[in-house]
Amino acid sequence: MSDTIFGKVIRREIPADILYEDDQTLAFRDVSPQAPTHFLVVPKKPLTNLLDSGQEDTLLLGQLLQAAVHAARTQGLADDGFRVVINIGADGGQTVDHLHVHVLGGRHLTWPPG
Ligand code: AMP
Repeated sequence: MSDTIFGKVIRREIPADILYEDDQTLAFRDVSPQAPTHFLVVPKKPLTNLLDSGQEDTLLLGQLLQAAVHAARTQGLADDGFRVVINIGADGGQTVDHLHVHVLGGRHLTWPPG
């Protein structure tokens, strides 16, 4: 995959409001929040999206979700709940070609999404 804006965030080439980091993942606030709390969790490995992942990424994908849960807890979302979203490709609404998990909370979220 080619480099993306999230690659630049991971390498600290552009600023971000970082909430959590471990050896494989990074969580930072979305610049255009769609809820009172809205952050993204990305693998440091540059996968384009879930379609780009393979069996070798099984542990990484688990770590990505664990990082999302950890950051959601520290942001105070655990009591009232929150939403985890992964957009894939054009119809999925993906605009940045680096796998990312959206975590949204802090208000009641309707379903289905648009
Ligand atoms: P998606 O549409 O699922 O690809 O989501 C991409 C998300 O990245 C959008 O919610 C954008 O607001 C967000 N975004 C784009 N650039 C940045 C950035 N530099 N820092 C944080 N979030 C960003």
